[in-house]
Amino acid sequence: MGVEQTWDVIVVGSGPAGAIAAYELAKVGLKVAILEKETLPRYKTCGGGLVFRGREMLPISVQDAVEKEFDSLAVYFDNLPQPFTAQRNFPILSMVMRDQFDHLLVQEAVKLGAVLLEGQALQQLEFGDKISLHTQKKVLHARYVVAADGVLGPTAKLAGWKETRKLIPALEYEVGVNSEDFERLSKEARFDIDAIPQGYGWCFPKANHLSIGVGLFAPKKIQLRTYYQAYLQKLGIQETTFEEAHGFQIPVGARKDGFSRRGVFLTGDSAGFADPLTAEGLTNSIYSGILAGQSIAQQFDQPELAANAYQAALEERLLPELRFSEVMARFFYFMPAARNLLMPRYGQRACEILTDVFTGQTVLSQDLKKKALKKLKWTNW
Ligand SMILES: Cc1cc2nc3c(=O)[nH]c(=O)nc-3n(C[C@H](O)[C@H](O)[C@H](O)COP(=O)(O)OP(=O)(O)OC[C@H]3O[C@@H](n4cnc5c(N)ncnc54)[C@H](O)[C@@H]3O)c2cc1C
Repeated sequence: MGVEQTWDVIVVGSGPAGAIAAYELAKVGLKVAILEKETLPRYKTCGGGLVFRGREMLPISVQDAVEKEFDSLAVYFDNLPQPFTAQRNFPILSMVMRDQFDHLLVQEAVKLGAVLLEGQALQQLEFGDKISLHTQKKVLHARYVVAADGVLGPTAKLAGWKETRKLIPALEYEVGVNSEDFERLSKEARFDIDAIPQGYGWCFPKANHLSIGVGLFAPKKIQLRTYYQAYLQKLGIQETTFEEAHGFQIPVGARKDGFSRRGVFLTGDSAGFADPLTAEGLTNSIYSGILAGQSIAQQFDQPELAANAYQAALEERLLPELRFSEVMARFFYFMPAARNLLMPRYGQRACEILTDVFTGQTVLSQDLKKKALKKLKWTNW
């Protein structure tokens, strides 16, 4: 028999979505617990490329967790002699290791009064006057639950959601290389679009090693490891000093059956909010964590209004952006011949626009759609 505890909100998962939701809830004095199956700090499979707009959304400084900053990025295609590059006067990409980054965010929520219950996995949910959460150690009760337990967490399924997200496989290696290779490759954050068909490879320099990976945007069974090894050759890496492999999935298609029900709010990967074009998930995890936290905080006594507020907030920017990105992804990954034909002429412009979007200088759903409509003289889109 376990100890029973009652909370206003229990956030399941201590990634960026959960930490920031807890931060927003604790900020207004609600009694919040973060339930985490691991003990922090814990490794999380991720390239750790935090784009500027995600970093800017954070209510706190994460400088202490940033290992490198890049105010430029490079996108390579096999059939082009030079990469497309974008340069800004701020860090387009900040490189973090997720154990440190996530832990820092959780610590900030804890400073505001959130309580971290680590080493405890959610196993079962029961719905009554309150929501009961069963872990291996305890039964906890809460008025609301924020599901922030990532792509493979059980909360959404336990609360009755079907699997409607689009999940793609990605393989990531933490790689040590000799000092010459590190010196050469740590000058830029690079993406290699032809490293794998219907996907891309990335090489993200960290303080003392490289995070190198390949992601596949098609629901196919292929040997990602073979493409990773070929990608090492493309990067000119002949030997490594260490290699740690981590395979995982990324949800690049949001759920189709809503984002809240019965007091449970889905955020981040649990909701399927990674970007369909780039698979960048940190920004929308942070953003949805903020929106869920604020919606619950503002309408705490009226769950229906809180749910409506969350849906309306998501519709304002996040969901239209995901839809737009999905269309772009279909063209980019599934019509490679047309894409490669257009790249020499429009690639640099596309690189600039996407950089503006991912740094928050352009809001895809509004600015870009307006411009496209104007160009097409088409209003019914
Ligand atoms: C290979 C790879 C590379 C990526 N690279 C990038 C990148 O460079 N930039 C980027 O923006 N995005 C990247 N992403 C996506 C990004 O990692 C995710 O979108 C992001 O981590 C989602 O955050 P989250 O808070 O929703 O969930 P997570 O960060 O996954 O956190 C979920 C938490 O829930 C906990 N949990 C799970 N089950 C339970 C349970 N039963 N009970 C309690 N706790 C539980 C987990 O232990 C974990 O701590 C990458 C993903 C992959 C797989």
